Amino acid sequence: MNDNDKNDKFDILIVDDVPVNLALLAKLLEDLDLNVVKANSGQKALELMEEYDFALVLLDVQMPGMDGFETSERMKSNEKTKHVPIIFVTAANEEKYIFRGYETGAVDFLFKPVNKYILRSKVSIFLDLYKQKKQLKDLSIQDGLTGLYNHRQMDKILKKEFSRANRYGTDLSCLLIDLDFFKVVNDTFGHAFGDFVLKGFADILNAHTRESDYTFRYGGEEFMILLPQTDIVGAEIVAEKLCNICEDNVYTDASNSTIVTLSIGGSSIVHNRPGQPETLLAYADKAVYRAKAEGRNRVKIYIEDTSSNKPGDAKVDKDINYLKEHLSSVLEKTKKSYMSSLQLLVQDMTDTEFQSYNQRVLLYMDLIGEKLRLPQPIIETFKRSASLHNCFTILLGKDLISRKGSLTEEEKADLEAHPYMLTELTLLFDFFSDERSILQYHHENFDGSGFPEGLEGDQIPLGARIFSIAEAIVEMTTSLPDKQALSLENVIKELSDNMGTRFDPMLVSSFRDIIKEQNSLIEIRKIKKIYNKR
Ligand code: GH3
Ligand code: MG
Ligand code: MG
Repeated sequence: MNDNDKNDKFDILIVDDVPVNLALLAKLLEDLDLNVVKANSGQKALELMEEYDFALVLLDVQMPGMDGFETSERMKSNEKTKHVPIIFVTAANEEKYIFRGYETGAVDFLFKPVNKYILRSKVSIFLDLYKQKKQLKDLSIQDGLTGLYNHRQMDKILKKEFSRANRYGTDLSCLLIDLDFFKVVNDTFGHAFGDFVLKGFADILNAHTRESDYTFRYGGEEFMILLPQTDIVGAEIVAEKLCNICEDNVYTDASNSTIVTLSIGGSSIVHNRPGQPETLLAYADKAVYRAKAEGRNRVKIYIEDTSSNKPGDAKVDKDINYLKEHLSSVLEKTKKSYMSSLQLLVQDMTDTEFQSYNQRVLLYMDLIGEKLRLPQPIIETFKRSASLHNCFTILLGKDLISRKGSLTEEEKADLEAHPYMLTELTLLFDFFSDERSILQYHHENFDGSGFPEGLEGDQIPLGARIFSIAEAIVEMTTSLPDKQALSLENVIKELSDNMGTRFDPMLVSSFRDIIKEQNSLIEIRKIKKIYNKR
């Protein structure tokens, strides 16, 4: 459903009970770029008004049955027609009628026999007004480039359809569409061609959705379809169809041509049970993110994210692969934000030449990676290394395009050290590499009886030994339904009993010392308190 007209002509209605008069009026308006609709009675006119959105009505006053005035009164009492302007057409000697006409809401009069020039000038004035009003209305709800509904209108319609669906217990599906690698289209062919593709895609959207569906430009290269009374299965079919069409569709203008694939995320009220309209949209958005992460050019339907159980929810054992995928997306975001900060850092040190150099390298890597059909996450990693290389090189104060020809000995040594310097810098960003061994070995025992590898003594990383004893202390001092917390004295006893077997003797004795010191500290504090009170 869209407000775009199928043809650009405006509809006007002429009403007269005498066929010759109708034909005459129509002839006088002939070449005015109008769509003239005829009615031979007031009744017929009212019926047609339900069907069309007329820009203007030319209404004969004297008609058998319902006359012009009565027709006009009825128009005024109907929401749809009350603002449609009316020009009464009446005999010249019937001036007495004019006043009554104005009372019932006429905007103007024309006298029979109708003068061609007066008629056309009056009609033109009303059409101009109508056009202006329509343009204003369109501007506020339509996206300028594609003619689809704009974001503001989307918010409104989404709310309306959401509550309508809830009221009638029907389904409502939402498809969010993001064009893949659109930045590359702009970078390769220019922004104007990018615009051309966006327009072309909007046409595809309109051509392949139903009259009852709403199509929106969500923003940039993102679009949305709202499908009332459509379940998730139906929505997925629409989405798959759009994906297939775009996969084969070549956007071509005089000088460029390209294919642009889609990543689509879907959600529905019945399938996902969102409480709010915004949640329906947020679910579709998450599904788009998945479609991107899994390689683009695909449809993903939102499924509930069980890995984000709220605290207090029953604990569910999670599949490691599922969790890995979830955490990867967290990492992906972290990497992205690190890259942005890094790029921000070098931005002040570089000029547009650097930006362009960097962008061009990335573009070629993209193109080659795509050509080789490498999975998207891999291409992203490759590109990230290039960006890291370029940022670090700039931060190190080096030129990006190195002169490899005639180098002094010093310059040569410097060049050869470059890869090592870069590696050293990336190690800084290897967040959890140091923590990894501690996680791996925190179940090892000092005497080699633990797991996974049965390491003993100082083969076990110090951090793992410290973590293990600290964890044991907390466990012992925590009350559980079936177990009393141990006193610190008993904890020390327990640790001492397992000294050299489960626990590192050095750490056990350190802990004993800590407790002793703490106790003496507490004693000192007590004494001070008493002393101060004196
Ligand atoms: P992805 O596959 O991850 O969606 O990659 P992408 O390049 O499509 O995504 P990204 O969000 O990085 O870039 C979107 C691009 O869309 C960047 C922006 O310049 C372009 N774009 C947004 N609005 C318009 C527009 O109105 N006209 C044109 N020509 N380009 C636009
Ligand atoms: Mg986008
Ligand atoms: Mg995109």
